[in-house]
Amino acid sequence: MFDYIDLMTKLSVANDKKIVLIVMDGLGGCELEQGGKTELAAANTPNLDELAKGGVCGLSDPIAPGFTPGSGPAHLSLFGYDPIRYEIGRGILAASGIGFELERTDVAARGNFATIGDGGEVTDRRAGRISTEKNAELCELLGGIEIDGVKIFVKPVKDHRCVAVFRGEGLGGDVADSDPQFVGKKPLKLAARSAGSEKTAEIANKFIEVVFDRLKGLQPANGMLMRGFDGFPSIPKMADVTKMNPGCIAVYPDYKGIARIIGMQVYEAGETVADEVECLKENFADHDFFYLHVKKTDSYGEDGNFDAKVHVIEELDAALPGIVGLKPDVIMVTGDHSTPALLKSHSWHPVPVLLNSDVCRRDAETRFDELACVSGGLGRVPSVSLMPLMMSNAAKLLKFGA
Ligand code: ZN
Repeated sequence: MFDYIDLMTKLSVANDKKIVLIVMDGLGGCELEQGGKTELAAANTPNLDELAKGGVCGLSDPIAPGFTPGSGPAHLSLFGYDPIRYEIGRGILAASGIGFELERTDVAARGNFATIGDGGEVTDRRAGRISTEKNAELCELLGGIEIDGVKIFVKPVKDHRCVAVFRGEGLGGDVADSDPQFVGKKPLKLAARSAGSEKTAEIANKFIEVVFDRLKGLQPANGMLMRGFDGFPSIPKMADVTKMNPGCIAVYPDYKGIARIIGMQVYEAGETVADEVECLKENFADHDFFYLHVKKTDSYGEDGNFDAKVHVIEELDAALPGIVGLKPDVIMVTGDHSTPALLKSHSWHPVPVLLNSDVCRRDAETRFDELACVSGGLGRVPSVSLMPLMMSNAAKLLKFGA
């Protein structure tokens, strides 16, 4: 891939110019039938089109052409990190997403409360999707567990999902899952996949025994399945790489999690796009880089709900004047990947990008959609190039070489 972290770290300079990166999750779409329009093309977006008129458009590849990314790697790419070199495990992401203050030596795993039958077999992998409130009560019951000098923190995430953080000496994150994936099977014993993680597996198995003991007799949640073990990723802070002071405005936990891991200040933004823009206005003076995340374009794409995805794009468009009015020096609007309603899933299609600044070298495009982006002045770039592009448009990168 393209790894620009070292180069950006060397060439970046602080100044008072401001960048706003707006990420509509899963923005890229497809037409439902030949001759039809994509979601972005079907949306009525006068404000985005105005921004396109004064800016430059193009397409980006989150990983490389043909690869479909998850939101985690796709976001790292947007923030300038090679998503193949830097990986963030699911457990770490979940813990960080709920605001748990991780230490760099912690190991985290996702837990599912589950129903276990009399023979020790899993009868419901989600314990009937218990409420988040019930989940929180169970996590309370599992408080204060310490095994062989390792402290274990169990915290609720949502529904039947929780997170367990292991804190102690000599822990590795390379442990296989205990979730057997099928009902009727017994949970698997936790096993290390490499030498540095044997202690973690041993402690985690003892932990599971304590959990089953404390949940004994309860229904429907009388057991826990664990997966997604990982240690804290060794990933440089965004402030060290870019010399910027980044702020994150997002509603969903996983995105706050990624932002926290790379050292962004995360704000509680409310629920709607309008709330997020209000939050941006309130804190605009305090940062020179903002990441504003809109989730529902992706959710509706995954549901196959074309019209609802169009509506979310229009909702962002309606809120856009509030952002433009703050007069950031650089505005970028893009997605982390495509989620066409046609496919009801993430896809490999390149993602529309719009960059607006006084020095962006405008192209002829007057509308923001996939078709206009094909002939836009940015061309087709890897998503990891978008951070250097934003920074250069804000005079935050020095030239390379004499
Ligand atoms: Zn995504």
